[in-house]
Amino acid sequence: MRIVAGTYHVEMDGGKWLECSLRGRVKQKVGRQVSVGDLVRVERLDDGSCRIADLLPRRSALSRHGVVRRREQVIVANVDQVAAVAAMASPSPDFSMINRLLVLAELNEVDGFVVLNKADLAAGAADEPAAIPADFQPYREAGYEILVTSAKGGRGLEELRERLIGRITVFSGSSGVGKSSLLNSLMPGLDLRVGEVGQRKGRGRHTTVAAALYPFPEGGYVADTPGLQYLALWDVDARALGHSFPEFREPAEECRFADCVHRAEPGCAVREAVKAGAIASGRYESYQALLREAEEGR
Ligand code: GDP
Ligand code: ZN
Repeated sequence: MRIVAGTYHVEMDGGKWLECSLRGRVKQKVGRQVSVGDLVRVERLDDGSCRIADLLPRRSALSRHGVVRRREQVIVANVDQVAAVAAMASPSPDFSMINRLLVLAELNEVDGFVVLNKADLAAGAADEPAAIPADFQPYREAGYEILVTSAKGGRGLEELRERLIGRITVFSGSSGVGKSSLLNSLMPGLDLRVGEVGQRKGRGRHTTVAAALYPFPEGGYVADTPGLQYLALWDVDARALGHSFPEFREPAEECRFADCVHRAEPGCAVREAVKAGAIASGRYESYQALLREAEEGR
């Protein structure tokens, strides 16, 4: 559930939590770190203390690629989905951050979707479903689900709950969009201070991302991953990056060069699609920025 100064907080079947150490040979045996979200086997020692004796296989992981000594650094194991949370207004959406989060989901081959909160602040009658702003249509067209919510008015909370039950969800987005408020209304008793989720660590390229899981009453977990929204993309292959924008995939097949990274190459069908308005220019600009970042990182 969380790892604090070498102590592993493990939720047992049945919901009881134990504080465990890590048996030295677990690391050697599997050659990888035990991360938040991992399934482990715990043993009780003669002195009554508990330790992790074995690490079970992962079905997925959200990781920053190859940052630490060329090793994969897993942020959360067994992640099912990433929710990129934004607000209709106040603050206005940070699209480059939303794109970064969705790319992170794609690179790690987990589901990504958008939560558009503060629907109560959108223009229009309160009893009408809030229209998805034009700026968000490209996400829809790229195949991402958009859940419109209001932590204040309660709109969309049931749909969000359904989406979270039984899964491990990474919930991330700019400060102030309402992440703590949404989780508080979905997880009574959680009592996150409003403004708390993901705000404990500084921002920047070298942000450390320490995760913790919050159990969802109906099953499933929400992962708090401070700093994830600022995570720099390192060691990411340019082709993999292009592929992590779903709307690029089809046009990319028509690019003249098979290894086209859709920058200045002649005969680039992705750039053609941007010019023709079939790919949103904002998404393409984010792609270019991430491409530069990935290349610098390498
Ligand atoms: P976080 O930084 O993403 O965790 O955002 P918080 O949950 O701390 O919310 C930031 C501010 O937005 C607080 O003042 C909340 O009361 C407010 N807020 C959160 N959700 C909503 C909402 O759906 N509608 C409105 N109008 N305000 C909200
Ligand atoms: Zn191309």
